[in-house]
Amino acid sequence: MKNRFKNILVLIIIACGFWYIIQYEGLRLKGIDFSLKGNKLELNQKDKLVNKNNINANTALVLVNSEYGLDKNYEPKDLTIPSISFASGVNEEERHVAGIIIKPLEELVSTAKAEGIILIGNSGYRSYKSQKNTYSSRVKSEGEKLADAYVAKPGFSEHQTGLCIDITNKDRYFVKGTKEADWLAKNCYRFGFIIRYPYGKKNITGIEYEPWHIRYVGKEAAKYIYDNKITLEEYLEK
Ligand SMILES: [Zn+2]
Repeated sequence: MKNRFKNILVLIIIACGFWYIIQYEGLRLKGIDFSLKGNKLELNQKDKLVNKNNINANTALVLVNSEYGLDKNYEPKDLTIPSISFASGVNEEERHVAGIIIKPLEELVSTAKAEGIILIGNSGYRSYKSQKNTYSSRVKSEGEKLADAYVAKPGFSEHQTGLCIDITNKDRYFVKGTKEADWLAKNCYRFGFIIRYPYGKKNITGIEYEPWHIRYVGKEAAKYIYDNKITLEEYLEK
């Protein structure tokens, strides 16, 4: 009888220990980025200061890919239309980008112009809602398998961060070898941008080469990524 009582007491003590650890872990996560964790956005160590209420320079390093998505309510801070030219037919929403990239983007486009290169905006911010519409109409017309191959599932497009924009040229033919694409690849790091989906890196980024899609990460990260010919995924893991 005495022994059984002892055993029960030991079990209670162990259970209390576990309970304490779980509570402590929960609080620790809350202190860092609970709101985003709660919304399924797993943040990298480097991004732990980022959350909805504390948008700062670290936001530029948030990772969104097929593994890490954004909540349906996530909207970038200070969505604004930059003073650059847009291709005809670009809708109102996609002319917007996050406030943090307005200045670097305008500087990039005006510097390019001064160097004889005309860059045109094609697609910036895409809300969760419009991603959902695009995805479901693609599923309807082509089936889920093909839709998954070409369109991000809602919440998994980097365009929802407002930190990236697709660039084009006046011919709407933005491929490697055109002077505009080559200029962008060589110079965007100077303004804090990277070619987010470089050639030959699909195994890491999950996305085919896209010479037109530039992503703001800040000047320091952009230079490192450019110099070392790596991706954002590799940079965040280093
Ligand atoms: Zn894009």
